[in-house]
Amino acid sequence: MFIGRDELGHRSETVRRANLSAIVSELHFSGPLSRSDLVARTGLTRSAIRGLIGELVAGRLAFEGPAALDGTPGRPSPVVRADPHGAIVLALEIAVDSLAAATVGLGGEVFDNVRIDLPRRRSSVVDIATVLAELARDLCYRLPSEENLVGVGVAVVGVVRRSDGMVSVAPNLGWRDEPLGEVLGGALRMDVPIAFANEADLAVLAEHRRGAARDIDDVLLIWGSIGVGGGLIVDGRPLIGAAGYGGEVGHIPVNPDGSPCRCGSIGCWETEVGVKALLRRAGRSPEAGREAFETLLAEAEGGDPTALDAFAETARWLGIGLAGIINVLNPSLVLLGGRSAASYPFVRSTLEAELDRRVLRASRRLVRVVPTSLGDDAPLLGAAELAFGPLLADPAAWLRPRRTMAALASA
Ligand SMILES: [Zn+2]
Repeated sequence: MFIGRDELGHRSETVRRANLSAIVSELHFSGPLSRSDLVARTGLTRSAIRGLIGELVAGRLAFEGPAALDGTPGRPSPVVRADPHGAIVLALEIAVDSLAAATVGLGGEVFDNVRIDLPRRRSSVVDIATVLAELARDLCYRLPSEENLVGVGVAVVGVVRRSDGMVSVAPNLGWRDEPLGEVLGGALRMDVPIAFANEADLAVLAEHRRGAARDIDDVLLIWGSIGVGGGLIVDGRPLIGAAGYGGEVGHIPVNPDGSPCRCGSIGCWETEVGVKALLRRAGRSPEAGREAFETLLAEAEGGDPTALDAFAETARWLGIGLAGIINVLNPSLVLLGGRSAASYPFVRSTLEAELDRRVLRASRRLVRVVPTSLGDDAPLLGAAELAFGPLLADPAAWLRPRRTMAALASA
């Protein structure tokens, strides 16, 4: 078959873009690498790597430093790094009782990070978008140049459609069918793509790329707060469902005689393992909130039997739900995040015993349950990773306009 010159050119351009994507992704996920490392990891030739790195350096997505003296024979290989100032994202988070914003550079360097309490009685979509836009403006003002902002990622404590940021339900905020994407887009007025996802989905993404689940391909993350969210990595890829609504493990029915759930159902897992259930078992008002949860933690640390019993009963229900999910998915790691991470020392033994009773033996032997490693900022850091998605998929699209600008400047 004859292949015309245009088609050949088109094919080599496709290959070039894919190779640039492979290199930028390696630098972003793995940190500084020598040219030899890049050859080994991408399978490209030394001369191809040299040419592509030249393009990335010219486009300010990477820079090269002096060779590392690692004691191995042969000519030392220069070390290539992602340029954190060359591509920056804005990460935003609407959490259960706080709002957060961060600016993050390529390679994962966090420039700035702020978290404020969720304004009380100001939780309409417009109010929250306005506050987030103020936080965003402050952070962007502190950047050396806003020109290199390539995207915005938003973590939402609720069920959110990824394509447009439509929030189907966010019970903690009292939202139902709210056009967060449209409202926030109007408030931010930024000329870059805005991506949305659920907080637990983003927490597991961050843990998979930069935290406790690094290099682990089958991971379940439970994000406990008032509600209970779930994030899943299956075979190395996020499992989010058809529109991003998947992973809502908090609404697995576990108790047919249980309490009404905020979702409208009865006896969902979160009605047994959420913070409200824990506070109720300790004889507190379920509505008492974060301070009451922290007091209860302190009491458990001090050995208070009522507090310890409340954690143990919550742990039993945690084990019941978790056993079912582990039997379905066979993860090798389960991460407990949010309030569940803080609870971990007091739920651990009962939870492990419950899993011993209920999980299939083959799966039980393979699975570890540990707290998250990135703390409460995991969803925010995941939002940054989400925002880097388009750049990592096709860095060439970001190189071209800069080249033009450089050409204009030098003309
Ligand atoms: Zn429910």
